Amino acid sequence: MGKRDNLGRGLGRGEREKMSGILYLVATPIGNLEDITFRAIRILKEVDLIIAEDTRQTLKLLNHYEISKPLISYHRHNEEVKVEGLIQKLKEGKNIALVSDAGTPVISDPGEVIVKEAIKEQIKIIPIPGACALINALITSGLETKEFSFYGFLSLNKKLRKEELEKIRRENKTSILYEAPHKLKTTLKDLEHLLEDRQIVIARELTKIHEEFLRGTISQILESYPEPRGEHIILIEGNKLQQETEEEKAIKEMTIEELYQYYEKQNLTKNEIIKKIAKDKGVSKNEIYQLFI
Ligand code: SAM
Repeated sequence: MGKRDNLGRGLGRGEREKMSGILYLVATPIGNLEDITFRAIRILKEVDLIIAEDTRQTLKLLNHYEISKPLISYHRHNEEVKVEGLIQKLKEGKNIALVSDAGTPVISDPGEVIVKEAIKEQIKIIPIPGACALINALITSGLETKEFSFYGFLSLNKKLRKEELEKIRRENKTSILYEAPHKLKTTLKDLEHLLEDRQIVIARELTKIHEEFLRGTISQILESYPEPRGEHIILIEGNKLQQETEEEKAIKEMTIEELYQYYEKQNLTKNEIIKKIAKDKGVSKNEIYQLFI
């Protein structure tokens, strides 16, 4: 490695020697082995070392693409211990690729520690984009995509979990949660009484043979799907009531002139605007009308 920079440009020898190595964050498939980019494969072939959450899992991918590289395990339980040695290797000029078992590393997966440390040490970090479970679940969900809150895995700590669940109940954006297969049912049950008739989507086994999207209220889904199997993502429609109260709050704080401009932007007619302002301010239409003539 070391003949090209991340844009594929050639580097002079002097320049190359001065540089420390690069930390690549390489996305791998979330099921279907074809979901990996040409660039990811090139980087995995070119780096000096691959650090992987579960080396056996990564070996399957590397064998599939006939890539043979030294592999080092780097997971949640040894992240802190391993990071110093890995940073040293990067400083010595070794290029390292970080991969997780599936999808985009660092997202609900190990990597934050080495990324932070590499930034401190001014080591170059390059993301190699690819599959990410939450993004693919979101774009297929049919729920609002403009704003969303990603919760990752809910906390196991009872108090924190309760706080997170309450946050989801009030959340007016789409909420996205990861969940381990054996805990899915418990989490759905925990959410059931909080979400009432809000729509949820379960994205199941993305990119795999049994890929499926279940849509409905939690009660409907639990009824039709009592024994969840495989990998799942839970997506929850934003709390519309919350949205309304926030809009109402803003309206309450507006002056009559501000309200007029606000409704004018919605292309309402003068009569419609007067009717709305009268309702917002709890006065008669005539009073508002008088103000505008
Ligand atoms: N870093 C990965 C990403 O964002 O692509 C996610 C890793 S996280 C440890 C694993 C969780 O992601 C699973 O428990 C599940 O909630 C979700 N997930 C990963 N692959 C999936 C798939 N093929 N279908 C559905 N959910 C998946």
